[in-house]
Amino acid sequence: MTESTVEDPKTKYFNGKYPKQKQEAPAVQKKMDPRPDCGEKSYRGSGKLKGRKALITGGDSGIGRAVAIAYAREGADIAINYLPVEEEDAREVQKLVEAEDRKAVLIPGDLSNESFCKEMVEKANQELGGLDILALIAGKQQAYPSIEEISTEELRKTFEINVFSLFWTVKAALPLLPEGASIITTSSVEGYNPNPMLLSYAPTKSAIIGFTKSLAKQLASKGIRVNAVAPGPIWTPLQISGGQPSEAIPQFGQMTPMKRAGQPVELAGAYVLLASNESSYVTAQVYGVTGGIPTA
Ligand code: NAD
Ligand code: MG
Repeated sequence: MTESTVEDPKTKYFNGKYPKQKQEAPAVQKKMDPRPDCGEKSYRGSGKLKGRKALITGGDSGIGRAVAIAYAREGADIAINYLPVEEEDAREVQKLVEAEDRKAVLIPGDLSNESFCKEMVEKANQELGGLDILALIAGKQQAYPSIEEISTEELRKTFEINVFSLFWTVKAALPLLPEGASIITTSSVEGYNPNPMLLSYAPTKSAIIGFTKSLAKQLASKGIRVNAVAPGPIWTPLQISGGQPSEAIPQFGQMTPMKRAGQPVELAGAYVLLASNESSYVTAQVYGVTGGIPTA
């Protein structure tokens, strides 16, 4: 008899109370308790991205790490971007990717700098010998109880990292992307139903939806697809470094219909699908991975 693969999504991953914890942003995944599950032990590939060349921003930790592991196990060579202080997390990802006999190029640097975005694209293209997937996952999120606490500098940085960097990176990469390339951005449930504490962040996630749909319509004639993923509450370094107030950490994710936070590995399938030829007729869409929070 064939064994069934049926699994209960309510209990498949951690669904208890998280221990209170706080790190400075950007937090390091290595110091989290429990450590996020990025598929290190569980993700199994099946050649869906064989021979592909992917640049992944935020690839050191959280959702970006899960995507890096999945892409490598699906047969892609990858370049990951992250901030220099996250080197330790990035090295772990490099080891995991190299264990699959895939290339892992490390490109630390700050995406809020336009010339760095160009250098990153050039380096990824050169070291991978081409580029045909952009998985743009990096982001900044800080919770503030009041608009009065958000400085212009903080607002500007959040928009530069979350929105402007997409514009700069895609602009630099476009001449290099072949027909069949795929661009994937990272929005959020916050782009649809914004939390009052996330006034500097939620509007960037709405802007990403507009950017993604507009760009998709522009690039369809070039054979390049552009889609977004909209995660719900996912257990990652972003959340324990000011993305949520500390007192909200224990019950993080429990307000979803699934009554638990998601783990980064649960996003991997969406990013793989949107990068792969299986989604050849999918463009200008937003794929929600939210534990049941609606995204319309
Ligand atoms: P994460 O902390 O693991 O990843 C965010 C990454 O952004 C960091 O690893 C860092 O490398 C990168 N980053 C931040 N500022 C940068 C800068 N100036 N230059 C270069 N890189 C920079 O957390 P995550 O939750 O996996 O976040 C990934 C994406 O998912 C973000 O865009 C976030 O907005 C989005 N998202 C997360 C959740 C969630 O609940 N965790 C929900 C919805 C959307
Ligand atoms: Mg990180």
